[in-house]
This record gives sequence, C-alpha cells and structure tokens, in this order.
Amino acid sequence: MKKIQMVDLQSQYFKIKPEVDNAVLNVMKSAAFINGPEVEWFQKELEEYLDVNHVIPCANGTDALQIALMALGLEQGDEVITADFTFAATVEVIHLLKLKAVLVDVDYETFTLDPEAVKKAITPKTKAIIPVHLFGQCCAMEPLLEIAKAHNLFVIEDNAQAIGAEYTFSNGEVKKSGTMGTVGTTSFFPSKNLGCYGDGGALCTQDEALAHKIRGIVNHGMYERYYHDEVGVNSRLDSIQAAVLRRKLPNLDLYNEARRKAADYYDEAFKDHKDLLIPTRNENSTHVFHQYTLRVTNGKRNELREFLTEKEVPAMIYYPVALRKQKAYFQESSETDFVHTDRLLNEVISLPMHTELDEEQLKYICDSILEFLN
Ligand SMILES: *Cc1c(COP(=O)(O)O)cnc(C)c1O
Repeated sequence: MKKIQMVDLQSQYFKIKPEVDNAVLNVMKSAAFINGPEVEWFQKELEEYLDVNHVIPCANGTDALQIALMALGLEQGDEVITADFTFAATVEVIHLLKLKAVLVDVDYETFTLDPEAVKKAITPKTKAIIPVHLFGQCCAMEPLLEIAKAHNLFVIEDNAQAIGAEYTFSNGEVKKSGTMGTVGTTSFFPSKNLGCYGDGGALCTQDEALAHKIRGIVNHGMYERYYHDEVGVNSRLDSIQAAVLRRKLPNLDLYNEARRKAADYYDEAFKDHKDLLIPTRNENSTHVFHQYTLRVTNGKRNELREFLTEKEVPAMIYYPVALRKQKAYFQESSETDFVHTDRLLNEVISLPMHTELDEEQLKYICDSILEFLN
C-alpha cells in the first residue's frame, strides 16, 4: 500500500506533469514573471468558472481578506462578525486593520456560522459579516444574506476552503460559493482544493466599482502608474502560479468529485457507529470536502489520534483552540455563548483527504479507526 498522507500533492502533480512543466517553462522563457498574460487568462477563466463579473488575483488568501476589508472602507472600531471556529487568518486581518472582531458560535452540525448567533451579535457598529465556508460547504447563505440586507451589512465570503461548491436558494437559483456576498475571497495555497505550487489567492465580486477599487489596492493604490490614490498593498499572483492554476482549473470539478467519493466511503464506514458523527451535509450546498471531519463523541478523540499515528494514518485537529482563546485575539466571553464551538474543539478529527486516495488506503484508514473504537 502506498504510504498514506494527509494531502498527496505529489501524485496529483505527476498526473499533469507534462502540461504543467511546459507551461511553467514557457513563463520562464517569456520572462513575463509579474502580470504576464497567464495571470490575465487565469483571471478570465476563473470568472467564467465561477460565473462572476470580476476576479482579482492576489498573493494569498489572507491578503484577499484584508484587501476586501480595505476596499469596503471599514474604519477603526467598526464591528465585523465572524466565526469563533475557523482558521486564524479570518480574524487576524480584522485585528490588523484595527476593526473589532465579534466572534460568534457555529452550528454543531455543519461547523459553519450560525445565523441566529449572528443576529444576536449585531449592534449599531456592525458593518460586515464574514461567513467562512468551512471544510468545503457553504454556510447558510440565504438566512445570512437576509440578515445582512435587513441591517445593511457587507458580506465577505471566506471561500478559501470551498471553491467549486454550489449553493441552491429556495427559489431554485444556484450560485457558486464565493459569489453570493458583496465580495468573495479564496486561497490557492497548495493544499486547498484548487492549489498552486506556492502562495496565491483571489477576490471576486459582481460589483464593477468595487472591483475597480480592489484592482487599485492590490497594486499600491495605483489606478494610473505612479499616481497613488489610496493606501494599498503589494499583493500579486505571479505568472508561474497562474500558469499552474490554469492547468488545474479544468480539473477542479473532477478533483472535488474524487474528494466526495472518498467522503462517501468514509460515511459508509462510520455512519452507524455509536461513538462517531459523520459530517452533516447542508441540504442547500454541495460539499467539496476540503476536510473530512468526524466528531468523536465518546471523549476519546485524542487517544484515537495517537492510535492512528501508531498505525501510520495521519489525522489532524482542525481546530484545537477557539480563536477567542488564542493569545493574540483573546477576549472575555460567557461560556454559554460558545457551546457548539467548545464541544467541537474536543470532538473533531480530520482524516486524510485529497484527490489521490485509493480504496486500499481508505479501507485501511477505516479499519484502523473501527479497530480502536470497537
Ligand atoms: C487557508 C485559509 C485562509 C488563508 O489563505 P492563505 O492563502 O494561506 O493566506 C483563510 N481562511 C481560511 C478559512 C483558510 O482555510
């Protein structure tokens, strides 16, 4: 059996090696390293894939979030509501810009922002909500968008983990993750569902004026060369990464399908086990399984992980600490406001998930987990 990895980027690369190698070499021959044609072509192809008017590539997913907040003109002290249970980048950029992060609980079943908790957290200073499409499925966007509309709030979708997922509204309308709010942000970090071979990211929006503003901010606030109209940043996707992404984007749906197949296998093995809860699939969203995350309900999550390490099955705890309890973002909180988050921190375990898992590996992973629990 091939050694099991949490993410197997090498095997995926070998399947597309000739095209990717060729594309990367061509960038080097052209010497158009920054803002070359590959970047522009990738931007257009991603706009088409997402069915969105404007994609603005940038250097990474964290920058994308920061740039979104900058472009919306939020000011010091404005409140931004997001989940207590997510990767730190979401909250980091709020702090960096001296805005106030208002962290709220997530839904225990889907791990995503709980609309009721959001509603309760709104104050006259609230300016934006950042729903994080955690682990590969969309948040409850319909209720969240309704809340945002009623209170005149911006919605920034952190789509770093769910590119390619689709959300169906009650009127039957289907939209891609990241394209439903005011602006969507994503990451092309190598292990993301659409990963490049370094850092990369993008923003997308339907709004022409906002897109224009973002294009300036990613490039030192310049709209005309050497005229700086606002304080911007230097955040670019380089041509080599764009060349890689252009070869991978046509495979994204297949990649997501391969992840879903692995998830189906896991579901089948664990769905009736008394000590495990399989990930709940939100009925309005497809799931692209950036992570396959079980909840271990018998209190033995850490022992299970140690057992799996002995068996050479990698497993990760996403995430072990609530953001409100991290040193950098610490805030006093009432224990009753975060019951789901606090329960999840002790129960979640993410299994190997990537596009190259074969049945022999999946069987070994499942057998190992069941051996420990039975
Ligand atoms: C990966 C990730 C980011 C940050 O993306 P980078 O490209 O690594 O900066 C932001 N939010 C979430 C939820 C992520 O998973």
